[in-house]
Amino acid sequence: MRIACLVPFCRRTRTFNVMKASDIEWICSDHWRATDRETRRIYFRAKRRQRRARHWFWDKLKRQAIERAGGIS
Ligand SMILES: [Zn+2]
Repeated sequence: MRIACLVPFCRRTRTFNVMKASDIEWICSDHWRATDRETRRIYFRAKRRQRRARHWFWDKLKRQAIERAGGIS
């Protein structure tokens, strides 16, 4: 089973890790680079501490990746 990058029209996929089923959404490395470094940093910190806020930051990263997707060819 593979999961696709959550950015619309992005064709990248990766293998789905059953052991990490909680993180079912994925942003490919190209689109990941389009997101804010600061937001990523806060997200990872919140994730490591299992903070509920990580979902909010994940949504923010998703929006950034999708909004900026047009600039990546
Ligand atoms: Zn992508």
